[in-house]
Amino acid sequence: MSRKVKCLIIGSGPAGYMAGVYTARADLKPLLIEGMLQGGQLTTTNEIENFPGFFGGVGGQVVVDKLREQAIYLGVEMLPRTVENVDFRNRPFHIVLDDGEEIITDSVIVATGASARWLHLPGEDEYRGFGVSTCATCDGNFFRNKTTVVIGGGDTALEDAIYLSNLCTKVYIVHRRDAFRGTMALQNIVKNTPNIEILWNNIPMEIVGEKQGFMKKVTALKLQNTITKEEHQISVDGVFEAIGVVPTTELFINQLDLNEQGYIITKPDSTATNVVGVFAAGDVQDPVFRQAVIAAGTGSMAGIECARFLLEN
Ligand SMILES: Cc1cc2nc3c(=O)[nH]c(=O)nc-3n(C[C@H](O)[C@H](O)[C@H](O)COP(=O)(O)OP(=O)(O)OC[C@H]3O[C@@H](n4cnc5c(N)ncnc54)[C@H](O)[C@@H]3O)c2cc1C
Repeated sequence: MSRKVKCLIIGSGPAGYMAGVYTARADLKPLLIEGMLQGGQLTTTNEIENFPGFFGGVGGQVVVDKLREQAIYLGVEMLPRTVENVDFRNRPFHIVLDDGEEIITDSVIVATGASARWLHLPGEDEYRGFGVSTCATCDGNFFRNKTTVVIGGGDTALEDAIYLSNLCTKVYIVHRRDAFRGTMALQNIVKNTPNIEILWNNIPMEIVGEKQGFMKKVTALKLQNTITKEEHQISVDGVFEAIGVVPTTELFINQLDLNEQGYIITKPDSTATNVVGVFAAGDVQDPVFRQAVIAAGTGSMAGIECARFLLEN
């Protein structure tokens, strides 16, 4: 089974949907492969207040449902399948889906996103979105004047702690070693910020919370000191796990240029990859910002660049 399209979009987060909006409006009749997580990462958050036009207790699912509806309204064809294999060696490109269908396409927009690493602590699943997060920029505002803890020792953990220290009364950093991996400039800021307390040589053991009917909240984090082996707990309202993010790029190894962290490399001020006719948008090519509005923006850029490319070729 095979079919031919002008433009194939891989991924159904804000980047994929907006790439769909722009390519559909350019009359490319895009086909969008939605993948295993229809709507992308935003579907996993209960509240979003920094996406244009949405605020006041709106869930991430509502936002992506609207983006999807808009893309379908403008003519994007959605396929609830996953891409299993890509061959970008020659154009048109050959893409194989999980049901064996082959798509032959003149252009591709990759929008497969990223996913945060989780510690898989007891209590983590239960309180995810109710005080447990992997994104301080996304969820920090919900912890104004409260106490939070950041787990990790790299740049992301240090940046998260600094960001949270401007909102929260107190921020702990829990790190399993006695020195950070993060850059010295960030370390200096962290060490000189009065409301940040570093708990060296500690590993998190369990996230503790309270439940009342449908309401639940985090109340504490249990820790173990790696030297004394003593267990203790700190009272916190929010737990931010900052142990890294993994871009979804396994499919593109040996097909596209990736950086050392695995993100797709795009040309400056562009979504073009090293393969002519293949564009990348959203978190999959963004190790820095990883926000929905930016994913939507680069998705739009990819749509515009793809349309220009097809017009010229
Ligand atoms: C808990 C949480 C809360 C967040 N809160 C906010 C917030 O408040 N504000 C904000 O701006 N951002 C927030 N973010 C970040 C935001 O969700 C991301 O920046 C955004 O979703 C990235 O969009 P994307 O389109 O690049 O990729 P993603 O949303 O990651 O979507 C990737 C898509 O690719 C698909 N895919 C992957 N592999 C394949 C494949 N092989 N075949 C087909 N499809 C595939 C997946 O199914 C998915 O649909 C949050 C993230 C998390 C995890």
